[in-house]
Amino acid sequence: MRVAVLSAEAVPYSKTGGLGDVAGALPKALRQVGIDAFLITPLYLQTKGADVGHPAIDDLDIEWRGGVYRAKVFYSEANGSPTFLIAAPEYFHRSAIYGFWEDYERFAFFNQASLALIKRVGAPPDIIHLNDWHCGFAAVKIAHLRFWDSYWRNPRTVFSIHNLAYQGIFDAEELWKLGFGSEFERNAFMFNGAASALKAGLAVSDMLSAVSRTYAKEIQQPENGYDLDWLLRQRSNKFFGITNGIDYDVWNPATDSQLPAHFNASDIHGKRMCKRALLDKFFLPIDLERPIFASITRLTAQKGFELIQQVAAELLATGAYFIALGSGDKSYEDFLQKLRDYAPRQVGIFKGYNEDLAHLIEAGADMFLMPSKFEPCGLNQMYSLRYGTVPIVRAVGGLEDTVQNFDVVRGKGNGYKFRELSSDKFLEKIYEALFAYYEPETWRKIQWNGMTEDNSWENAARNYVALYQMTKS
Ligand code: ADP
Repeated sequence: MRVAVLSAEAVPYSKTGGLGDVAGALPKALRQVGIDAFLITPLYLQTKGADVGHPAIDDLDIEWRGGVYRAKVFYSEANGSPTFLIAAPEYFHRSAIYGFWEDYERFAFFNQASLALIKRVGAPPDIIHLNDWHCGFAAVKIAHLRFWDSYWRNPRTVFSIHNLAYQGIFDAEELWKLGFGSEFERNAFMFNGAASALKAGLAVSDMLSAVSRTYAKEIQQPENGYDLDWLLRQRSNKFFGITNGIDYDVWNPATDSQLPAHFNASDIHGKRMCKRALLDKFFLPIDLERPIFASITRLTAQKGFELIQQVAAELLATGAYFIALGSGDKSYEDFLQKLRDYAPRQVGIFKGYNEDLAHLIEAGADMFLMPSKFEPCGLNQMYSLRYGTVPIVRAVGGLEDTVQNFDVVRGKGNGYKFRELSSDKFLEKIYEALFAYYEPETWRKIQWNGMTEDNSWENAARNYVALYQMTKS
């Protein structure tokens, strides 16, 4: 089976969040279970890791806005699978990956270029795997072309929702310019009087998935569905939840090159050295007995940062450290700064995006806070589990599926979770975790349970293969 994966970001080339991790790891995982997968992604100014010395193709002709755009395409295998990177400086050489008024046009172009590339490099793939709103355009194009162009008759489309909150909405007048002139195409995009690339992908792809089972259920409910719940319910026999895996080549405390010492489930000594290095990095006094609570996050409303704000004073009153790495909304960044000024001997902050530091924090911290309002899957709680850092999470989306409350009597469970969006409930779990932390045997058991869990990509990849096969039936 041949599968083309399209994504706006993919590790190690580009990443702003979980989508990048997933799109980078999935093609490699698919190849490991025998699927001939390749990845297509834009070549940004920010792209890393690709040896982009010479283009593999320097004359890819793309029908675009009534003319022909000639693009270069670079090639890399830095993520363990064949990857084509589409170079179009007008669209992708920007100060950031996203956030421009014509993002819809940039990604419509990316989709159009990807289809031209797929056709150029060989026989039709069996599956075109599309990710998030950035790839909704290709879903519509293929559904349309299927009737006119024999090349596109057989490929089936799978559309994965990594976050329903991002929808790619734009003025429907623009559809003509982007090459979507037919009534079928226009109808696919139309959503509450505008065009939505996400809605289009959900409406016309052959199969849909979301990145965890609970999230797939949640977004079929009006309160979490962003007005698209009706469509997801309508398509529920084609819609499945597949929980993301994590890439143990990148996130493994036994081999992680960012760490001063290594450790694993049976020998956790190295974690203390990582803790020391982490405190040192943030110029905090070294007291290895005191727990470190950590947070690594995009600072947006989604992540429930208000709850962290509400519990911060009580948390610091216990004597614990708090270390946060994040960037995003200014009000949250300002809060972190104030907290650090208020308790400089307990609080460490880094405002910005820093992957190396993310690894050290996962390894050196004791507990990881993730009180998300909603969480499609969440990766950090799974990294935390692997690094013996006990997650304290809100029971939503993928957090519900991957974290189980620790039960002292049965010795089962890998962390702590609360359901109600309330700082009191969050605090209860924080105190429960602290209590366990000061009982070394109990703590060791929770860590063991988390560290020995298998959240590898292999499981997820097999589930995707099953989904791909279902498109044929
Ligand atoms: P989301 O995709 O909603 O941001 P996930 O938990 O699925 O949330 O994935 C977030 C990814 O981005 C993780 O790999 C996390 O380590 C990383 N990340 C988030 N913020 C930062 C940051 N400030 N610095 C480094 N890595 C970050």
